[in-house]
Parts: sequence; C-alpha cells; structure tokens
Amino acid sequence: MTPLAGIIAARIRATGPITLADYMQICLMDSRHGYYATRDPFGVAGDFITAPEVHQMFGELCGLALAQAWLDQGAPAPFALVEPGPGRGTLMADMLRAIRQVPGMISAAEVALIEASAHLRGVQRDRLGAVTHIGGVEDTGSKPLFMIGNEFIDALPIRQYQRTTDGWRERMVGLSDDGLRMGLGPVVPLARAGSEGDIVEECPEGAAFAEAAARHIARHGGAAILIDYGSWNGFGDTFQALRDHAPEDPLAHPGQADLTAHVDFAALAAAAWRGGAIVSRPVRQGDWLCALGADARAARLAAAGDTGAMAALRRLTHPSEMGHLFKVIAIWPKGAPPVPGFVALEAHADDA
Ligand code: SAH
Repeated sequence: MTPLAGIIAARIRATGPITLADYMQICLMDSRHGYYATRDPFGVAGDFITAPEVHQMFGELCGLALAQAWLDQGAPAPFALVEPGPGRGTLMADMLRAIRQVPGMISAAEVALIEASAHLRGVQRDRLGAVTHIGGVEDTGSKPLFMIGNEFIDALPIRQYQRTTDGWRERMVGLSDDGLRMGLGPVVPLARAGSEGDIVEECPEGAAFAEAAARHIARHGGAAILIDYGSWNGFGDTFQALRDHAPEDPLAHPGQADLTAHVDFAALAAAAWRGGAIVSRPVRQGDWLCALGADARAARLAAAGDTGAMAALRRLTHPSEMGHLFKVIAIWPKGAPPVPGFVALEAHADDA
C-alpha cells in the first residue's frame, strides 16, 4: 500500500467516497506524496516521454508558430509568453532559442510559467534561470498573451458520470475490504444523452482554463496553442494510470502512477467560444508539425550530423506513434490572422 492509499482511505472512512477529481488532485499534487509533487517523471528513466523530450525540433517549431502569430498581430511589446504545466522546462527552453531569431521578440517577451508542483517549479528554475511563476492567465494583466501548453489539460482532474436506469450517477472512489474501489454516487441532473452503462467525462478545470485564456486573448490579443492526446466529443472511460511506462489500474498505486484522461477538444472549443475568441479545428500533431516544416527541419539536422533527428521526426509525426493520437487546437482573437497551421472552426459545428 502506498502512503497516499492510507491517507485517502482514512479520509473516505471519515467523510465518505470522493469524486475522481478529488482523487486525481490528491494523487498528482499532494504536497508530500503526490506524483508531480515528489518527482520528475519525464523521459526514458521516468514513466513517460513527452514530445518536447523527444527532440528539440518540437519546441523550436512551436516557438516559430507562436512567433509568426506575434508578427501577424503587429509584434506587440511587451507581451506575456506563458506556458502552463511546463514539466522540465524543455519546451520553453527550445521555444526561447527559436524566437531569439526573430528581431525584437525576445526583448518584448515576459516569460511566465503556470506550475502547481513546487518540486517542478524548482526544476524549471534550474533549467531556465530566474523565471516568474504565476497562478493563471489572469496574472498577466492587460498584456497580449502568447501561450503554448503540451500535455497540460490531460493532467487536470476529471469527473465521470455513469448512466443507470435511474439517470446519471457520478463515479466515486470508495472503500471495499481490500482497499480503494470505484462506486457510484447519487443521481445527478446531468444534461447529456446516453443509454444505460454509458460513461461520460467532464474536465471542469480544463474548460475554465481554456475559457479564461480565450477571454484574455479576445480582449488583449495573443494566441494559445494547446497540444494533447484526445478526441473530438470524447466518449467513455479514458481515465488511465501509467507507471514505469506501463498502464495499470488507476486505484492501484495512488501517488506513484501518472493519472490522466483523454482531452475532449470539443469541450475546450466550446469554452473558447464562451470566452469570445476564435478557435481552430483540431489538427493532428503529425499534420501540424509537417505543415510547419518538420520534415525539412529534420532533414537539415540529419545532414548536419544529428543522428537522432529522423527517428524523432517519425516518433512525433507518424500515425502509429504520436502523430494521430495527439491533437492541437489554437485560439486567437476575432479579426486576427489564423495561427500558422490552423483554420477557424465555424461556430457550433458539431463535427470536426
Ligand atoms: N508540458 C510538459 C509536462 C507535461 S506533464 C511536457 O510536455 O513535458 C503535466 C504538467 O502539468 C506538469 O508540469 C504538472 O506538474 C503540471 N500540472 C498538473 N496539474 C496542474 C495544475 N492544476 N496547475 C498547474 N500545473 C499543473
């Protein structure tokens, strides 16, 4: 039993079953035993490898896309360059190197990171030097906001609801004789279609984050690019745990496994509209990177002696690797040109 399993069981014994969102929040962020609060899980030695850790070309291409959006909006200065959930700081380091090529951009950029883990805030400072951490996009004042987040939304707590004969009931973490166990809470008034046995997910913090970013961008300018794995109008139980590169039961080792859920890009798009901005159609990561010139960049790096460049290109873009599972959407203000590699989604389109 992990230390957190005992703590969570004691809490359930005292006050009753907890939502999946509470369970995820404790497992990932508990300040003593939480997954992100205690370790650096990224890379070959950790539990998973994210796109920025695959190769520097990922962050460089992201940086150049953001740079083009900045130029297209008249190169505003100063502006906030923000990354939520920066992990090791690799994406920001690679983006900064790329945007140094763009005259005036680096001196206009006020870099700010959004990171809930004190441990990872330290890792990010070691990597990037003196860097500002903020609580949310609201903390950027009235400056234009240029932002990229990779695998941030998938780490935010989700709630799940299951359709029963009586209606929708929330899936909760409770106790059985052998430990933590999934169960169902009381019937809740959820306005979703479904038949008996169906499971749907919601990520209230993810939607709130996208709406706040869109509201800021609509009002003060800027652009946001969100990259994650998931689908459009996601459906079913996508809650998953990963430990030592292998999937396992999310209730098995609380605090010692990464917990994520697939991102529902339709819900993010709806949130961005509520915020008053334009949102793009979702694009597959592989298609987006290739539209930005990933093939040419990899070929140039390979010719210059980077022996890993072509394998990294495949990893990032091939349909059987990260290319199709991962999707990208962008948010920009009405009246501004689209962010490179994206087309606007028509309001209220229900398929993309
Ligand atoms: N973007 C990085 C790391 C992705 S992992 C990469 O691609 O490698 C998710 C990141 O989001 C971690 O840094 C984690 O600590 C952070 N995070 C998770 N929940 C958060 C929250 N509610 N607020 C801020 N950061 C959060």
